[in-house]
Amino acid sequence: MSIQSLNPATEEIVASFDPLSESDLQDVLDSTAESWTAWKLKSYSERAGLLKKAAEQLRIQSKKLAEIMAVEMGKPVRMGEGEALKCAAVCEYYADEGEGMLAPVPVEGVGRKAYITFEPLGTVLTVMPWNFPFWQVFRIAAPSLMAGNTVVLKHASNVPQCALAIEKIFVDAGFPANVFRTLLIGAGQVETVLDHKSVFAVSLTGSEHAGQKVASAAGARLKKSVMELGGSDPLIVLADADLEEAVKVATMSRCGNTGQTCIAAKRFIVMDEVYDEFLSRLTESMSNLVVGDPLDPKTDMGPMSSGPLRAELQKQVDRCVKVGGKILIGGSIPDGKGYYYPPTIVTDMPTSADVCKEELFGPVAMVFRVSSVDEAVTVANDTPFGLGGSVWSKDEDMAAKVASRIKTGCVFINSLVRSDVHLPFGGIGISGYGRELGSYGIREFVNVKPICIG
Ligand code: NDP
Repeated sequence: MSIQSLNPATEEIVASFDPLSESDLQDVLDSTAESWTAWKLKSYSERAGLLKKAAEQLRIQSKKLAEIMAVEMGKPVRMGEGEALKCAAVCEYYADEGEGMLAPVPVEGVGRKAYITFEPLGTVLTVMPWNFPFWQVFRIAAPSLMAGNTVVLKHASNVPQCALAIEKIFVDAGFPANVFRTLLIGAGQVETVLDHKSVFAVSLTGSEHAGQKVASAAGARLKKSVMELGGSDPLIVLADADLEEAVKVATMSRCGNTGQTCIAAKRFIVMDEVYDEFLSRLTESMSNLVVGDPLDPKTDMGPMSSGPLRAELQKQVDRCVKVGGKILIGGSIPDGKGYYYPPTIVTDMPTSADVCKEELFGPVAMVFRVSSVDEAVTVANDTPFGLGGSVWSKDEDMAAKVASRIKTGCVFINSLVRSDVHLPFGGIGISGYGRELGSYGIREFVNVKPICIG
């Protein structure tokens, strides 16, 4: 079956590609393995220089890359350009900091002298989603390359042009051939890649289902995996919160990228004292978003990435209504071309309903009223996910105490939950395991090897 690029704003097929045959796939993997032998011997400064060149290309090409994202998965160009620049920043971050993060660490108390080294291991397979089609790739590729590994990318099947554009960035930057390769393959060929002797690990971002399949396949081969899966992040609004700022960030978090973000705030847990005011401000703010053509710079929210994902979201909204949820705005698929879905708010949900514990991957905010901090924490933790969350209060000490009780991979106070190059990023529970970014991210895919003398 061909790999198709379908414009979610027009529902038209814009490009189509043949997947790699098994023998072509083996050839690419062999070439990547061969390139590793020279790549791992390059100095950190040589690798850093090339990453800086990649950053330069990302900046030069950012407008064009944003257009590819808009046409393939519906991201408004303003946000797409920002995404390309964030990729440039992660390349520069690891170019500047990578050598220090992987410098030998001396250890006292054993032998005459001991130190820990961090050595590259071969090729990292990255299995990536369409929602941040550049950022998700670069945040794992930049540290892996800086550490001296080679990288192959199996991107989501609906973003083949993004996948090819990413490979081209590395070519344009002057990387040696086959150090980074895009594999245009279907999900069924991932096991073949894992079978290759040079591929020692896989990093996947996507759904729990995909995570289970790929982690099992890696486990069966005793290859390492990092899983960055879904989330159902709580945004907790305490009684003394700055509501104006909380609502601004809540809107951005829930509706940015048309709600298709793992670390979007998905459940809004609001103290009784400020519930009515928060809800009325959120309703106004979400209603004011400009929904439309992702190629128009004025657009805040484009279409969802595909028809099936929109249909799945509508089913979840219908299930909300079935268990007593009230729709304040939105809630149904509009007429016309394109996989658009309106900003939607659902209230009065019983927290025990199954749908409240699921990930809603679209611009649908579930708002819950609570009457105590303890209740807010209980509701926040009442999901098998554990990716991120935020707490809003003018009392930062109080907010920090609440943050320590939230069972997730990160919590932000009075701020947007985001993946930042400086901070380790990842989840607990069914949100996955392992960490990307910061110094933790670059150490996931290296051999942590002590050398002990005497
Ligand atoms: P998937 O999780 O299915 O896809 C993510 C990546 O995994 C793609 O490259 C996909 O390839 C690959 N993949 C999927 N199944 C397998 C498999 N069995 N073996 C090997 N590779 C596989 O995402 P969807 O696009 O289907 O989205 C479904 C749901 O996933 C969303 O509604 C959302 O809940 C969640 N999601 C979470 C993301 C996050 O950032 N945490 C990102 C995207 C989705 P292919 O495209 O070829 O199937």
